[in-house]
Amino acid sequence: MSQTKVLVTGAGGFIGHHLVTYLKKLGYWVRGVDIKYPEFSEVDADEFEILDLRRWDNCLQATRGIDEVYALAADMGGMGFISSHHAEILRNNALINIHTLEAARINGVQRYFFTSSACVYPEYRQMDANVIPLKEEDAYPAQPQDAYGWEKLIIERLCTHYRQDYGLETRIVRFHNIYGPEGTWEGGREKAPAALCRKIAVAKLTGNHEIEMWGDGEQTRSFCYIDDCLEGIYRLMRSDYPHPLNLGSDRMVTINELAYIIADIAGIKITIKHIEGPVGVRGRNSDNTRLREVLGWEPQISLEEGLARTYPWIEQQVAKKLGLPIPA
Ligand code: NAD
Repeated sequence: MSQTKVLVTGAGGFIGHHLVTYLKKLGYWVRGVDIKYPEFSEVDADEFEILDLRRWDNCLQATRGIDEVYALAADMGGMGFISSHHAEILRNNALINIHTLEAARINGVQRYFFTSSACVYPEYRQMDANVIPLKEEDAYPAQPQDAYGWEKLIIERLCTHYRQDYGLETRIVRFHNIYGPEGTWEGGREKAPAALCRKIAVAKLTGNHEIEMWGDGEQTRSFCYIDDCLEGIYRLMRSDYPHPLNLGSDRMVTINELAYIIADIAGIKITIKHIEGPVGVRGRNSDNTRLREVLGWEPQISLEEGLARTYPWIEQQVAKKLGLPIPA
């Protein structure tokens, strides 16, 4: 049998770059596409093309000769970015996804994986820190907090219609806070785990153990390590389940707790200074009942273990940036 050819869009980004490596190890021929190369390590893809996927002609080029697409390209970031760039996010991501999906259809792609988000869930179900974990059907009646979530919801539906109307096998995942090494850790697009690892690394390396945190830190989330994310993506892609599926951990922690776990790993005591800033919904957790049913699996790596693999990498980046000796 000839080698299956896959396209990973957003292959210059955090999850996409790891996914390329994962799929190469499984024996696929892989094309990566992004508007930038991965920042922190070499590309493992057979081909890597710099293409702006907001453009239709580029989407046709990206999907030529491809059997399966993993669509990860998105204009995205943490709460600071998502809560303040609504028009840009909705426009860019809608263009990317509408064009990539249609180009995949025109080019005869057989399977298409769309990466949605827990941000599709309605704000009214996430008002309490002690939130009821979110089931897939809780997405409706829809009221996502930000334009980022609305766009994801629309593309989930578009994927469903492409499957029903055109027979393109689409798979839809809703990620809940994926973290790990080689993710964005500075610059304004980083998410809470990376931002806290950076702040705690700076605290450790400079000896000033006070860190700033947006809000009171009592907002809750769950966090999923990148290796679990990759396995979940692959299991879902190979499954026959066509509806949106949560992929995340169902262990909820407060952002304060997250900071103290990281500080323990760093081996320092911190004090937290709470400041004004965008914090998102008050509470969010994944209900993994359907994930377990459909995939016969759930994320395996504990938050402590995942952060113990992530923090040292961020500490090294911070040390490099500060011109200090690189920690082992
Ligand atoms: P990321 O920002 O690291 O990667 C996204 C990549 O898309 C970037 O490399 C970016 O350059 C690329 N991109 C942006 N605009 C593009 C364009 N016009 N053409 C081509 N490429 C473009 O983000 P990530 O964390 O790796 O996320 C991957 C996917 O998973 C995204 O769709 C994101 O919305 C989704 N997601 C991620 C999380 C998470 O916790 N990381 C949570 C929910 C959903």
